[in-house]
Amino acid sequence: MNPKASFARLKEDPEYQNGVMRCIRCSICVPRCPSYRVYQNEADSPRGRVQMLRAVMEDRLEPSSNLEHHLDRCLGCRACEDVCPSAVPYGYLLDRARSALQPTEHARARKSVVRWGLTRIAATPWRVYWSAQLLRLVQALRLDRLAAWALRKVRPSAALRIELAPRVRGAPFRASEAEEKPGAAVQVLIGCVASGVLGDVQRATIRALERTGAEVSVPASQNCCGALHLHAGLMDEARELARGNIEAFDGEAEVCVNAAGCRLAMREYPSLFDGEPTWQERARQLVGRLRSVTELTGARLNGAATAPPPTRRRALVHEPCHEFNVQKERGKLEALLRQLGYEVETLPRGAGCCGSAGLFSALQPKAASDLLDRLLDDVQGRAPELVVSSNPGCQLLIEAGLRRRGIDLPVLDISEVIDRRTGGGEAEA
Ligand code: SF4
Ligand code: SF4
Repeated sequence: MNPKASFARLKEDPEYQNGVMRCIRCSICVPRCPSYRVYQNEADSPRGRVQMLRAVMEDRLEPSSNLEHHLDRCLGCRACEDVCPSAVPYGYLLDRARSALQPTEHARARKSVVRWGLTRIAATPWRVYWSAQLLRLVQALRLDRLAAWALRKVRPSAALRIELAPRVRGAPFRASEAEEKPGAAVQVLIGCVASGVLGDVQRATIRALERTGAEVSVPASQNCCGALHLHAGLMDEARELARGNIEAFDGEAEVCVNAAGCRLAMREYPSLFDGEPTWQERARQLVGRLRSVTELTGARLNGAATAPPPTRRRALVHEPCHEFNVQKERGKLEALLRQLGYEVETLPRGAGCCGSAGLFSALQPKAASDLLDRLLDDVQGRAPELVVSSNPGCQLLIEAGLRRRGIDLPVLDISEVIDRRTGGGEAEA
């Protein structure tokens, strides 16, 4: 279907239509918007984008490459939703508009590569596993650093992309490494990029849950959550992945999703099934059982309080945008770290996105690096001994930024911290 016809269909979606019309152009969202911060252009602000969507809806604007360009520059952090007095459902509008806007000529080649990667690799666990193994080998041979060095003068943006790429930590994790236990109280989503690049984080999550008393199962038939597909406008593919996960996590168990971005994508599964009441109901049922590792372990951590104090005590908390702006889980990471014996440093309220944002850092490396630099200045100003996050994308990008600055500062996922403080893994935390 061409973009004009797809946008015409969106006019029949009352949530989309009312959402667009609800914007009162007050501009309260503008200063919180990281894309406005880097591009300094009204069309790259939430207000500007919603007004463009309204103009398309009222047939005053063509859904062209210009609209695509400005939608591509949105990080999907949803800080705008957090402050909007008119409750504009910005995330809903963005996902639908991206899906309606098929790649235009100027971005077709780049987007076909992204789409190929998402549909052929991220959606298939064994391909994620072997791609991560290959990346691990390239990094072990330092070929990535060689390529970045060679490209720095001729193609600086390509060099930057390589420098910001995730560094594989530990062997990639496969669902078959853990058991599938029918009737277990907790099931774990291992994710796609997270299981490939941060295999050790998945192992730490399972150990942390088990050590705090949960019986854990890793369903073998689970999928990628579909967040990256959704943000790339691949709504049908995201829906299919959602169906797979609804089946895989069927039952009564609590479902631990330790990546904040994946958890948010799964919380939004019901909105993918408008017009399919049975699937929508099953999606709602799953949403009611989603938990973070912080929630699941927090109440059961009494034993850890007796452990010796951590070697690196000053921990800086990085709350991912999704947790802060949409899921409203503010302060939970901080509380848990204090419970575990840390002195906690925080970033200023609404410090902003680190620049990771799904595929944003790969597609817009210069803007991502500008945002990351601002965040790292704040991090360094607080002189922590450890940075703790709860989203793999943020963890990997902050780690890459510190590496570029030559700073030796560990960046851990909260599950790694819980694991180490309850007797597993390395002792440094
Ligand atoms: S989602 Fe984030 S980047 Fe996108 S418009 Fe809203 S505040 Fe700006
Ligand atoms: S805060 Fe909400 S109502 Fe105000 S300009 Fe932004 S999107 Fe529109």
